[in-house]
Amino acid sequence: MGNSADMPWTARAAGRIGHHASAMLIASIGGAVVLGMYPLPGVFSFSVPIALFGFVLLSWFLMRQHDRRLCEQCMASMPLNPSEEAVRYKRRFWMAHTGSEPRFLIPYLAVLIGSNFTTTTVGRVGWAIVQLSMIYLILAHSTHRRLQPWCPWCSDGGGGEHVDETPPVLPNDDRQLA
Ligand SMILES: [Zn+2]
Ligand SMILES: [Zn+2]
Repeated sequence: MGNSADMPWTARAAGRIGHHASAMLIASIGGAVVLGMYPLPGVFSFSVPIALFGFVLLSWFLMRQHDRRLCEQCMASMPLNPSEEAVRYKRRFWMAHTGSEPRFLIPYLAVLIGSNFTTTTVGRVGWAIVQLSMIYLILAHSTHRRLQPWCPWCSDGGGGEHVDETPPVLPNDDRQLA
């Protein structure tokens, strides 16, 4: 941010869309679940899921780009009482940290992929729930990114009484998890 006028318009447009990328990703997960429960007939049964998959990849890419730097729209939508917000969203912070740990991530991915192969009705409902749980992970990730200075797991001074274990091992920058 800062000298955004120097940026090419494509970068600015991507930045503006990127701000909404997590919402796009959530919408496309919802779309994928609907398609999984009610497959479309004929030619659409192939073309629509492929288009949706492309949309998911695009949203994911834009979200990563967006998360890499401070976004003007994010700054503008910063709550006036971030520390109070942070207390409210404590569970999401916990999720954002725990969700990136291998001991959680690997079984989760196994269930996520494995649930695609069920054919029973109960299995399909389970599949939908597992897919929809990703929405919560995305929300946790974007809330954490926005309010990270107030995250008790990132800073010990934030009143993190639940911090009873070694800090989570993250693959790279804290902002790049998920
Ligand atoms: Zn933003
Ligand atoms: Zn944190």
